Amino acid sequence: MGSAAPLAEVVTDSARDGGTFGCAVIIPAAGCPCAQVEAIRPQLADDDCLVVVWNGPRTGAHDCAASVLHDSRSAAVWLEYPAKMGAGAARNMGVEWLSGRAEVLAFADSDDIAHDDWLAELRKGLANGRLDLAGGGLEIFSGGQWDVVLPGEDFWYRQAVYGSNCAITREAWQRLGGFSTRVGTCEDTDIAWRAAGIGLRVDIVPTAVVRYNLRHGAAEWRQRVTWGRSSVALLRAHSLPLSRHLPTLPALISDKRSHGLAASAVIAGLGQFAGQLAGKVLDARSDMA
Ligand SMILES: [Zn+2]
Repeated sequence: MGSAAPLAEVVTDSARDGGTFGCAVIIPAAGCPCAQVEAIRPQLADDDCLVVVWNGPRTGAHDCAASVLHDSRSAAVWLEYPAKMGAGAARNMGVEWLSGRAEVLAFADSDDIAHDDWLAELRKGLANGRLDLAGGGLEIFSGGQWDVVLPGEDFWYRQAVYGSNCAITREAWQRLGGFSTRVGTCEDTDIAWRAAGIGLRVDIVPTAVVRYNLRHGAAEWRQRVTWGRSSVALLRAHSLPLSRHLPTLPALISDKRSHGLAASAVIAGLGQFAGQLAGKVLDARSDMA
């Protein structure tokens, strides 16, 4: 895990003073996180902490930093890195800054909007000792209606969580060593699988919901190609045979149709399938190297 110093680090006094936090909410951001911050800020208790890890172009970042830190009842931290580093790596940086001071770590994305009771619902099972890793659902607008999509057993293996809506105890995080940076954008499924693999308790909290922005058109295609490539890396990392765990094109499309986590089931399915192919070719190359 890299530990490069951020370009900028702006923190409130209460974040600086060395005390401990009940819960820290970490938001990786390469675009404006302000709407999400506004949704989450009222949910933070006095002893909680908000950590935004900016990693992207600097344009506009200063206004966002000011609004993240301004008017904060609980501790707030703004870390700024000059280049995009991937959500998993950015979340790791946020946790690293905390140096073990937060009992519970919760993760949200900058372009989603958390429901009012999101954090309370998500952290409940962790606070009472019932769970080690909790995952919530994504509210999406698809086919003319709002629906909540919950993470399932990915690739016919183990329960997944969404990186944009999950929380973990400090002890579980330390045992797992954070998000892996070697499985592309499947770092969330990976951490849930690894957690279950060492006997940690992973479960879904259907009442912890964030509103998710589905990508459209070319953006959806690019996102799904990346997912497909990442899924190959994920299966390899867990020594699972691709022939048994990688979905076929019809399975991909019907899966998108049934659970609805796609603006277009065809674009999403085809994109993910293309990504799987690319991943397999790259794997074959690196096997030969
Ligand atoms: Zn902003």
